[in-house]
Amino acid sequence: MSEQLSVNRSLFDQVMVPNYAPGAMIPVRGKGSRVWDQDGREYIDFAGGIAVNSLGHAHPELVKALTEQANNLWHVSNVLTNEPALRLAQKLCNLTFADRVFFANSGAEANEAAFKLARRYAWEHSGEEKNEIIACYNSFHGRTLFTVSVGGQAKYTEGFRPAPGGITHVEYNNLEALKGAISDKTCAVVVEPIQGEGGIVPASQAYLEGVRALCDQHNALLVFDEIQTGVGRTGDLYAYMNYGVAPDILTSAKGLGGGFPVAAMLTTEKVAASFGVGTHGSTYGGNPLACAVAEKVIDIVSDPAVLAAVKTKSALFFSLLNEINQELNIFDEIRGRGLLIGCALKEKWKGQAKDVLNAAISEGLMVLVAGPDVVRLAPSLIIPDEDIKAGMVLFKKALQAVIAAQKS
Ligand SMILES: *Cc1c(COP(=O)(O)O)cnc(C)c1O
Repeated sequence: MSEQLSVNRSLFDQVMVPNYAPGAMIPVRGKGSRVWDQDGREYIDFAGGIAVNSLGHAHPELVKALTEQANNLWHVSNVLTNEPALRLAQKLCNLTFADRVFFANSGAEANEAAFKLARRYAWEHSGEEKNEIIACYNSFHGRTLFTVSVGGQAKYTEGFRPAPGGITHVEYNNLEALKGAISDKTCAVVVEPIQGEGGIVPASQAYLEGVRALCDQHNALLVFDEIQTGVGRTGDLYAYMNYGVAPDILTSAKGLGGGFPVAAMLTTEKVAASFGVGTHGSTYGGNPLACAVAEKVIDIVSDPAVLAAVKTKSALFFSLLNEINQELNIFDEIRGRGLLIGCALKEKWKGQAKDVLNAAISEGLMVLVAGPDVVRLAPSLIIPDEDIKAGMVLFKKALQAVIAAQKS
């Protein structure tokens, strides 16, 4: 066996492209909602790998599904199909509006497939002119050139133009704005049921219903990007289920693999027909390792008892967060659904979400940000109540440290 190279955080700056700014500690091990770093220091995990580790770290059933599959078959490519992919697709169809599934490896790729499919469907049924995609300001749909251009945050396309054409942005949760922009040239409207990266902003019931109606009126496909909100994150298997508004295409990733890279685009039989043989593809999409793990994630998360527990744990988070805020008065609003929670900083603390994240790390707690002004929590869907309570004690200390630093 070759000896392992010893590494530390400073090596990052020497060997990695500088597009990330990772924190000082390097995690090496995780179990449930606890993580340990190189020095053996313990952390409580309210970040969940950015809404990815839906069942925490090293869940025994996921480890079992992965290792069993690893001993059988790793990869065959889409020249052949495979059993885990078929089983996962069947389950996703049984559990949702969808009749057909396309697998990819990341959220961006699932969205790329969704946007291409929407164009192709319109091209086939209505002609070349119907190619416009409408998305929302502050939305996030991934980092490939197409998906980042559909996303509604200008800073992410800066320096990468020319961007693909035929994309329009409108204000989120504003039906009048969409009414003004949509036309018979619109092939798709793309919406996150809760804007994630944009600050944990839920769509209103009237908005999603209105978007559905406008899409129908103009023969445009409705695409729900549920990459962050899907797979039990909100307490429903997919967030659209709570609204009672079904899309034509839905994208799922992040929590779907519980930490193993996998994504899916779900759609109807009629729309799927426009992706005929050879129109689109992926070498790894539907990989047996990824699908075996995702199948187990779906088995566990689709259990009504697990989904109900997400809502109970959510209520515990909200009550403890409100209690802390009553004392510290640092947040304007604590919002979100299920275990996707955004704590929006008051005017005085705006821009300091990253300071809260760093202070939390110092206290032994992992949290996230959603933009400069919102602290985001996206823990494991099965985080034990004791970890929620213990983590909240650390969260309060972190907030107190940020408050003290501003006073001094
Ligand atoms: C994370 C995210 C994506 C991109 O997923 P990747 O796996 O990073 O490509 C797209 N849409 C939403 C809503 C997301 O939260």
